[in-house]
Amino acid sequence: MTVRAILALKGRDCVTIAPDATLAEAARLLAKQKIGALVITGPDRRVTGILSERDIVSTVAAHGEHALAQQVAGVMTREVVTCTEDETIPNLMKRMTAGRFRHVPVIDRGKLAGIISIGDVVKHRVAELEREHEALREYIATA
Ligand code: AMP
Repeated sequence: MTVRAILALKGRDCVTIAPDATLAEAARLLAKQKIGALVITGPDRRVTGILSERDIVSTVAAHGEHALAQQVAGVMTREVVTCTEDETIPNLMKRMTAGRFRHVPVIDRGKLAGIISIGDVVKHRVAELEREHEALREYIATA
């Protein structure tokens, strides 16, 4: 199973934010959209950064409430780990676990084409386990 299967179910929308937006604006957008990370792109939809709720929390912890006036560009992670639609889910899970991040933008021909969160991966894995469980039950019942 690949990233493509998850995107086919959840869609390819990905919430982005401008690099000159403030952390307060980013926090409001995260809360409104009920998500954990925002992607920052250039004019050609190439990924230039990612800002997660953790980045906002650690900046507020370090600088207090004034942190919320800081610009996204100064806080976002610039070395973004991405994936393609062809990547397998087990491989993506390994990379998320090793890198300790919960969001991976999907890139198609150099441009942002969706995002996979740890929640999407877990949902997918649970559904897969349920299908396997059901197949085994049927096999035992009819053996
Ligand atoms: P997260 O677990 O996704 O909330 O992010 C934890 C930290 O990793 C934050 O500093 C994020 O900016 C960073 N981060 C999140 N996703 C990625 C990614 N795909 N590539 C690189 N860094 C990331």
